Amino acid sequence: MGFSFQLQAACSQTRARAGVFSTPHGIVETPRFMPVGTLATVKGLTPQQLQSAGAQMILANTYHLHLQPGELIVEAAGGLHEFMGWQQPILTDSGGFQVFSLSELRKITDEGVTFRSPRDGRIIDLTPERAIAIQNALGADVIMAFDECPPYPADRDAVATATERTYRWLERCIAAHQSPDRQALFGIVQGGVYLDLRQAAARSLVALDLPGYAIGGVSVGEPPELIHEIVEATAPLLPLEKPRYLMGVGTYREMVKAIAAGIDLFDCVIPTRFGRHGTALVRGERLNLKNAQFREDFRPLDETCPCACCQTFSRAYLNHLIKSREMLGYILLSLHNVAELIRFTQQIRAAILSDRFTSEFAPWLK
Ligand SMILES: [Zn+2]
Repeated sequence: MGFSFQLQAACSQTRARAGVFSTPHGIVETPRFMPVGTLATVKGLTPQQLQSAGAQMILANTYHLHLQPGELIVEAAGGLHEFMGWQQPILTDSGGFQVFSLSELRKITDEGVTFRSPRDGRIIDLTPERAIAIQNALGADVIMAFDECPPYPADRDAVATATERTYRWLERCIAAHQSPDRQALFGIVQGGVYLDLRQAAARSLVALDLPGYAIGGVSVGEPPELIHEIVEATAPLLPLEKPRYLMGVGTYREMVKAIAAGIDLFDCVIPTRFGRHGTALVRGERLNLKNAQFREDFRPLDETCPCACCQTFSRAYLNHLIKSREMLGYILLSLHNVAELIRFTQQIRAAILSDRFTSEFAPWLK
């Protein structure tokens, strides 16, 4: 079974759409939030809990898994799905973003990147061919092209150089990809905050007829208005009949606005990171469960939420767990937060299917 993307409905007032992305490990109903499992684990949650939270496709990270345990271990285990016990779709990020944001860079050339591992200090060369070989070994359903991610802010010349290099690297990724029938390679539109560079990059990527497209290099410290501008200028240039993924974005308003511009897939570490810090996402609000106001609050986090946390436990109990630094507290908040963001995108999807997106989500679209 290969890949397909079927559009089911389009909003009559915006570019929002609902679809079904089919992969060898099952379907992803779009728009959809994807939980992040950097090291082949969505922190604190078992695959069963992820499933109960409504997860369909989850992320793992090439850079981190290359450093630990190494892709050969994952491959020997039978691939990522077997290794981590998750039989539904998985996407691996190429590692480009992490190389440029986390490691001590030694050298960037047209050939690739040389950097020092923050784990053990060893020098690692990463090229487009290597990034694809690692992802072929990991075996995710969707793999990402190796790209150069310029920081924000960056001047136009530097961004233009990085964007052109990203395109040349993409051509090498396509040539190196060993299993296009089992793994869909998505290209990544770069171009920083320069809309003309973004648009030129989008046009040249579309000509390569890839199975899906991502907008990358956003959510790197720029104000949210710039994310909206970039998405609105870029998403409409991507093919209607291919899935579109906005990388690293998972806040309520940014997702609603991006969906209105035609984005289908999102990922973000926020739900589990907030969970580990004692913060719950509840219908657009952030609740700090450490606060004394929850000491005697015996209501669930959200009485409308079907997750196991809300169905079983009270805010007072969560307040007690977090105050006592009990690990169950962080796990329950992570579970709820993941379920909350997935449910939010499911509600948007339902609204698009009945063409009530702009009325039901009007407060977010302002
Ligand atoms: Zn909940």
